[in-house]
Amino acid sequence: MKISILGIGYVGLVTGVALSEVGHTVTCIDCDLEKINQLNRGISTIYEPGVPELLIKNMNQGRLYFTCDIREGLADNEIVYIAVGTPENNDGSANLQYVEQAARDIGANISRDTIIVTKSTVPIGTNARIKALINEHLVNRCTIEVVSNPEFLREGSALYDAFHADRIIIGAESEAAAEIVENINKPFKTTIFKTDLLSSELIKYASNAFLATKISYINEISNICELIGANVEDVSVGMGLDQRINSQFLKAGIGYGGSCFPKDIKALVHMTNSLNYQFELLESVMNVNCSRQQILLNKVKRRIGNLNKKKIALLGLAFKPNTDDMREAPSIMIAEILVAEGAVVTAYDPVAKENAEGVISRLVNYSDSVIEALTGADAALILTEWDEFKSLDLRILNEHMNEGILFDGRNCFSLEQADAANIEYHSIGRKSVI
Ligand code: NAD
Repeated sequence: MKISILGIGYVGLVTGVALSEVGHTVTCIDCDLEKINQLNRGISTIYEPGVPELLIKNMNQGRLYFTCDIREGLADNEIVYIAVGTPENNDGSANLQYVEQAARDIGANISRDTIIVTKSTVPIGTNARIKALINEHLVNRCTIEVVSNPEFLREGSALYDAFHADRIIIGAESEAAAEIVENINKPFKTTIFKTDLLSSELIKYASNAFLATKISYINEISNICELIGANVEDVSVGMGLDQRINSQFLKAGIGYGGSCFPKDIKALVHMTNSLNYQFELLESVMNVNCSRQQILLNKVKRRIGNLNKKKIALLGLAFKPNTDDMREAPSIMIAEILVAEGAVVTAYDPVAKENAEGVISRLVNYSDSVIEALTGADAALILTEWDEFKSLDLRILNEHMNEGILFDGRNCFSLEQADAANIEYHSIGRKSVI
């Protein structure tokens, strides 16, 4: 099919690459000229495994195009995906200005009957609003249908997820429109679940909120482990062996971050508040998550004392491994507090440095390697579980640091590994190795 995608960020680009790879002809439209120019040169605008290769391949095969010109980008295409951002407003609600602008732009520029497919995560009722807005701004006579098709990809394995999704959700008012979107997605060979628009919108929020709940739950359990001397890694494995529970998202640490969970959980709570419903469980999930960074910092302060002029190495800044995304990364708050307390902070992240520079305290120094960051440090903190850190020979800490003291916010090592390397090791929900 001939498909246009509006908004070429993480979701738009991965969707464009994946749809073109399965044979559709895709025109990607973004208002960011620099981004489009870079993509037209065949250079990916996101750090995402597999994307650069399939980008070039599908551009060369004439199935993937990029433009800033919305009229040209929509011309003759009967399917238009919306994948623009839905960041959070100050009050926690979803900011729909980009979605609404996209709807107005689509209305003003389409010239044939069109199915609009909403990939962006949007609050309950937004698809109906998109339809109304497009109809208000139609210049040419055409009929539109709106289909909700929320995205579940995980940054860092986004392309893999596109081809190995657990399910594809399609919410629609009309069976005919749902069927067309179902056919577009058939090559991905996964379960396709069709439902109404409102249920589809809620499935996305309810899924993210459930995963965040699992994370906060295991983080609470890790606090209890520390009180009684149990090992949260073992508790998590033991729980996860029960298929009803499942071990995924049962990893204790310094909390969830990223461009989705924090804003989506807040948006769902905001939505339910506006329905006069207090979602107490999710309020607790958010409160638990907010406490996680301070819990790691408290361990540092208890051990190191006054942080003034202490040299602290931060290993990892991105909100999770295999991405350069710094949005709502727990490292931001940790770095801010360390700097505020007078620590000399040196950070190393394999790919997120450039994005970090824009959002993290200017007083943070950056290193080009783990060893450079560790050299002369009084303590090191692991904030992202990159493979590069997990495969470290921990003996290098004693060689390069003032004292080999590691605070591992992501439980990258076993207690036995820390013991064998003769370092001091403090982690989450486990006894310290001293
Ligand atoms: P993003 O910020 O990376 O990209 C959004 C893009 O839209 C930007 O390139 C921006 O220039 C462009 N844009 C904004 N308004 C436009 C307009 N009127 N016309 C053309 N382009 C426009 O966002 P993202 O991370 O890809 O997220 C997109 C949506 O998908 C959000 O609703 C998000 O919640 C959801 N989502 C994201 C992920 C993820 O992991 N990033 C996963 C699932 C769902």
